Amino acid sequence: MKVFKSISEVHDQINDYKKRGKTIGLVPTMGALHQGHLSLIKLAAQNADKVIVSIYVNPTQFGPNEDFAHYPRTLEADLEKCEELGVSAIFTPTDEIMYGSDRFLSIHIERINKYMDGGSRPGFFEGIVLVVNKLFNITKPDVAVFGQKDIQQFRILQQMVLEFNHGVELIMGPIIRAVDGLALSSRNAYLDDEQRLAAPGLFRSLCYIKKQIEDGVVEPGLLIEHQKMELAAKKLEIDYLDLFSFDEIVPDKKLVPNRKYILAGAVYSGKTRLIDNLIIEG
Ligand code: AMP
Repeated sequence: MKVFKSISEVHDQINDYKKRGKTIGLVPTMGALHQGHLSLIKLAAQNADKVIVSIYVNPTQFGPNEDFAHYPRTLEADLEKCEELGVSAIFTPTDEIMYGSDRFLSIHIERINKYMDGGSRPGFFEGIVLVVNKLFNITKPDVAVFGQKDIQQFRILQQMVLEFNHGVELIMGPIIRAVDGLALSSRNAYLDDEQRLAAPGLFRSLCYIKKQIEDGVVEPGLLIEHQKMELAAKKLEIDYLDLFSFDEIVPDKKLVPNRKYILAGAVYSGKTRLIDNLIIEG
């Protein structure tokens, strides 16, 4: 497994792969790899000849009061896990390599970032679109794999690929969970024992609401409000819990048949932000 810091090294490697007719699958990550990330790497390997994993804690997607400085960084362990899975190359640039010292351009997102995580984290998706755009230009992948865990990110990147003509096939991997249902996340490491016990409450609330919808509820507003109270009782402070249209990522009060929805929530457990979602076919 090759580990690259510089863009020119990656370019040389990519040119070599392309010359040999190999397809490239990219898995962008911020490191602190867990089984969720590893499942995406496996999916990439099923869909491309060579898998490149980027490990980069991207500063432009963190707000001023967020956890950029404390975000877990476990490069050695990450490299071992990637090697075990047969990853071909790692790209782990520095901020200087990724962004240089001066920047003249930024990204503006017109729609689909006003609610959910985009609503709560101003600048978050602009930073993601910026960095993934760069990663696509640097690694020139045929396919790129992202998790359903960050479903709004996936939706925005679909739009990026379409509007910027990247010609990259996006694949969405399912959410990998702990046995009690908690979606795996690098940030789960911040939780103390009591918080960790309460954390699966978000998934349980989403499952409960989804079940009621499957049993015929078409206006889940009251149910959602009730689940917000349940979560608050578990010391999970609600950021949002709602039903959103998949295409536009705006809240929807009533399910219409044959449309796709996202039932999604974000809660704070102490300072740790947890997100989760379920897809609902209306
Ligand atoms: P991150 O390192 O948090 O930026 O995540 C890198 C990729 O892993 C993103 O596409 C995430 O959606 C995905 N991911 C994070 N957690 C999970 C999980 N529990 N299951 C599947 N994919 C995940």
